[in-house]
Amino acid sequence: MPSDKRTGDGLEEYRRKRDFSETAEPSGEGDRGRPPAPRPALPPDLPEGVETGSFVVQQHGARRLHWDFRLEVGGVLKSWAVPRGPSTNPAEKRLAVPTEDHPLDYQHYEGVIPRGNYGAGPSLIWDRGTYVNISHDRRGRPVPMDKALAKGHVSVWLAGEKLAGGWSLTRIEGDSTAGKQAWLLVKRADPAADAERDIVEDSPRSVVSGRTLEELFAEEG
Ligand code: MN
Repeated sequence: MPSDKRTGDGLEEYRRKRDFSETAEPSGEGDRGRPPAPRPALPPDLPEGVETGSFVVQQHGARRLHWDFRLEVGGVLKSWAVPRGPSTNPAEKRLAVPTEDHPLDYQHYEGVIPRGNYGAGPSLIWDRGTYVNISHDRRGRPVPMDKALAKGHVSVWLAGEKLAGGWSLTRIEGDSTAGKQAWLLVKRADPAADAERDIVEDSPRSVVSGRTLEELFAEEG
C-alpha cells in the first residue's frame, strides 16, 4: 500500500480551500513530530493520564473580523471561528462556528493571506499555550476529547499567555454530522474569570511579535 499523507489525515477540506503556491499558510504535510511551541508550565498537581495538548487563538482580519480558537486533538487543530472573540466574563456567551480542521503547524502561522485567497487578510497569534481536558459527564466521570467533541460539550483548562482557567464549548445547533453548527465559548466561573475586563480590547497584540493586526497588515500586507 502506498503511504500518502494527503489522504485520511482529516485535512482534505483545509487543503482544498487553499492554493499553497499563493499563501504561506502550512500545507500540513510533514508537520508530524515537529517540536511544539514553547508552552507555559502546567500546574504540578495534574492527575496521571490527563489529556493535554496545545491551543492557539488567532485574530484574523478576514472579510469579517474573528478570532480562530483551535485545540490540538488527534493530530489536527480542531477549530472554531469566534466573531466577537473570547470573553473572560462567564455571563458572556460567545458564538463559535466550527471551521475545517487545521494542521498542527498552523499554530505557528502569523502573516497576511494574500488577496483573492481563502481567508484573505492578516492573521496574528493572539494567544497560545496548553490545554488540559477537564470534560466530564453528568456523573463527573472524565470524557476523552474526541467523545466530548462528538457529544457537543467540551471543557478545557487553559494555560495561555492571555487566557487561563476553565472554558467550555457547547454545541447549541446542529449535530456531529451537520455541516452547519453553532457552539458557544464561555468562560467558567473561577479565579481567572473577570467580568469587568474586555480582553480582546485591552490585549490586542500578538504574543509572538507584539504587533497589532493593523501593524501586521501595514508591514506585510
Ligand atoms: Mn479565520
